Amino acid sequence: MKFNKVLESIKTYEAGKPIELVVREFGISPEEVVKLASNENPIGTSPAVAEVIRKNADKAHLYPDDSMFELKEVLSRKFSVEDENIIIGAGSDQVLEFISRALLNENESVLMSAVTFAMYEIYARQMGAKIVRTPSYEHKADEFLDAYNEYKPKIVYICTPNNPTGDATGKEEVLRIIEAIDNDTLVVVDGAYMEYAAAKDTKYAITPNDLLGYENVIYLGTFSKAYGLGGMRVGYGIAQRDLIKELYKMRPPFNITTLSLAAAIEAAKDNTFVKESIALHQEQIKRYETFARENGFTYIDSYTNFITYLFPDSMNSTDISDMLLKRGVIIRNLASYGMNAVRITIGTERQNDIFFKHFAEVIA
Ligand SMILES: *Cc1c(COP(=O)(O)O)cnc(C)c1O
Repeated sequence: MKFNKVLESIKTYEAGKPIELVVREFGISPEEVVKLASNENPIGTSPAVAEVIRKNADKAHLYPDDSMFELKEVLSRKFSVEDENIIIGAGSDQVLEFISRALLNENESVLMSAVTFAMYEIYARQMGAKIVRTPSYEHKADEFLDAYNEYKPKIVYICTPNNPTGDATGKEEVLRIIEAIDNDTLVVVDGAYMEYAAAKDTKYAITPNDLLGYENVIYLGTFSKAYGLGGMRVGYGIAQRDLIKELYKMRPPFNITTLSLAAAIEAAKDNTFVKESIALHQEQIKRYETFARENGFTYIDSYTNFITYLFPDSMNSTDISDMLLKRGVIIRNLASYGMNAVRITIGTERQNDIFFKHFAEVIA
């Protein structure tokens, strides 16, 4: 069978390996597997949210409220925007897909940093669009504007904090990029880890409201990271009304589930859980920084819930990741991004203890 030609240039997204795979392949019991590969919240899901999910279990036969009125209400209050500025997706991933389908075709290009979230490229390639990258993984305004002026891309992706590198771009730098881009190009500000960056240094804090004055900018957020709902698949886009209206045309009905919707509404109200998650994270990440310094390699200063270790030539990220996997420790190898580096989600104290024990043995 002949498939759409654009598929030839697409590599399937490689998700973090699931616990089940390690159990199956290496015979390790599930309780002993430590998964630090997909930037999930290591504490889990807030007990209040889990309770709401259980309570809604007997509504699984009902489609969710397709207007998502209540979730939009909570988000609009939280971010001081209007309901009509919000679109909900099955993860912010789905909003990225709506954006791509609404704007791209084979005559367009998209611009992103050298190393950033892999799905930007995949969604763009699905539409046949070309990919342009800046030289650096950091989002440098000068590099973005040079490339913007040369290629006039249809979409510019600013991932701050950036995944899989963990660095963030200051609000002023982001605004400098936005100000120089005209209204024919959409700027996507992906704040999947913004809660962590904002807690670390307010210079990096960007809110949807900061960007709402621009008709060609959309802010993306997710419940998958700090809110601990990766398994529920809920994210959102916030932009001016006319842009949201167009994206709505791409949306299938009932695009998140009845249980996801109930969970997200509760999670959005539960600030204590996010605060606790961040506090644990800030304490535990110090151990990763110290470990790197003591063992002769460097890391990228992180504004996210993970840390990226950069290895010297004497250490190979693929070998190290494979050896850890056989011991039941799942981390993310960044070799496919052209980096001799690994990305590790900061776990609970116990998970991190297990990680350091195995990691020390593996690199010895
Ligand atoms: C995790 C992540 C997302 C979206 O995750 P969803 O689970 O689809 O909401 C988007 N962007 C970046 C950079 C991410 O790391």
